Amino acid sequence: MQAFPSGAPAVAVVGAGIVGTSIALALRRRGAEVLLVDRDEPGRGCSYGNSGAISVSSVAPLAMPGVLASVPGMLLDDESPLYLPWRYLPRALPWLARFVASARPAAVQAAAARLAALQAGALEAHEAMARGLGVPELFLRRGHLHLYPDEQALAKDATGWPLREAAGFRAERLDRAGIEALEPAVSERYRIGLFLADHATILNPLRYVQAMAGAFAAGGGRIARADVSGLAQRQGRWQLRAAGAADGRAFDHVVVAAGAWSRALLAPLGVRLALESQRGYHAQFAGGRDLVSRTVVLADRKVFVTPMEEGLRIGGTVEIGGLAAPPDERRAAVLGRIARENFRGLQDLPMQTWMGHRPCMPDSVPVVGPAPGHPGLWLATGHGHLGLTQSLATARQIADGLLGAAAAS
Ligand SMILES: Cc1cc2nc3c(=O)[nH]c(=O)nc-3n(C[C@H](O)[C@H](O)[C@H](O)COP(=O)(O)OP(=O)(O)OC[C@H]3O[C@@H](n4cnc5c(N)ncnc54)[C@H](O)[C@@H]3O)c2cc1C
Repeated sequence: MQAFPSGAPAVAVVGAGIVGTSIALALRRRGAEVLLVDRDEPGRGCSYGNSGAISVSSVAPLAMPGVLASVPGMLLDDESPLYLPWRYLPRALPWLARFVASARPAAVQAAAARLAALQAGALEAHEAMARGLGVPELFLRRGHLHLYPDEQALAKDATGWPLREAAGFRAERLDRAGIEALEPAVSERYRIGLFLADHATILNPLRYVQAMAGAFAAGGGRIARADVSGLAQRQGRWQLRAAGAADGRAFDHVVVAAGAWSRALLAPLGVRLALESQRGYHAQFAGGRDLVSRTVVLADRKVFVTPMEEGLRIGGTVEIGGLAAPPDERRAAVLGRIARENFRGLQDLPMQTWMGHRPCMPDSVPVVGPAPGHPGLWLATGHGHLGLTQSLATARQIADGLLGAAAAS
């Protein structure tokens, strides 16, 4: 059965986060007939509450040499930037073993090279996308300022900065006066700044996805709200199992871009991904956005401070705690406290909190491309801490691969 009458390849994209929505838009713009399916409104998953950073130079994977030493702290200190609750340890062990293996120097170099390739050109691509969608005000190109209290704290990131340099990014080192010249409200505690000038920020990640979804629908793409419970291939075509929305239609291709939930969707097909949720949190203060004028990273606390459209957002923390457990409000409270300690003027402002599931591979490299052994099945997940940054390049790769494959068949 043809899904669409036009004769163009029919594609279902499962997941309308920043990754799936970018893919759906890219495919539609290149002529495919596309159905974008999500159980929620576009952009309400992990893509809702991120820090908005287009971090082109973040090529250091999370697993770095020495990571093993941090594991006891993860287990024992529930205020650590990396936290693993004891109850989840048995479930996390296989992923953790691969994570630790990914910290070998050769594996780190390989991951960094792949991340650099995926992130090259992201700044220009997002700037053009925001402009093309009619939301240029969401794109702020004013650099990122990383802050450290002292040399000792900077030394802890000693492996990461050379990887950025090797990828062609140079940071300008600032003293306290230099920090104040850029961001006068930052706490006195911070004495060393590393300024990455050519970096940018999306000032409302949800509105960005919504603008993409709007352009997709306006261009003839279809959006359906449904919880996809499975995928099946019959006579070379794909069907979605989902109450209501997909109503038995068949597709030439299906793209799984379901973020941290992709593993469960793919497992029944025999596609096994070492994908784990790294739960991240934000605390957002309504009215506090003028305290900074660009993305500021309190690097010793591993938090990003962003002047979002709707307030000052403090995003960060990694909690390996699975998809099912409710948010641990203590984690978001820690972010709120860090913000109040480092910026005066936040005490009386209302604070909202949020938790999202980063879809993470052990080596931090997303899985983008055809699923081996399953013609017509495409994978676009595992973007971890950088899914916003990497989304447009992912969409281009999938569209190139899929439409090339369709043209050839
Ligand atoms: C605190 C925090 C800060 C971050 N900061 C940054 C940053 O500054 N820069 C950056 O580049 N990245 C950042 N990230 C990472 C980024 O947000 C993610 O990598 C990205 O959002 C992943 O996008 P996605 O589309 O793969 O997943 P999601 O946005 O989670 O989308 C997946 C979608 O699939 C849907 N879905 C899942 N299963 C099904 C199903 N069975 N049926 C139907 N629908 C389904 C979900 O409802 C969801 O909408 C941050 C993340 C966090 C948590």
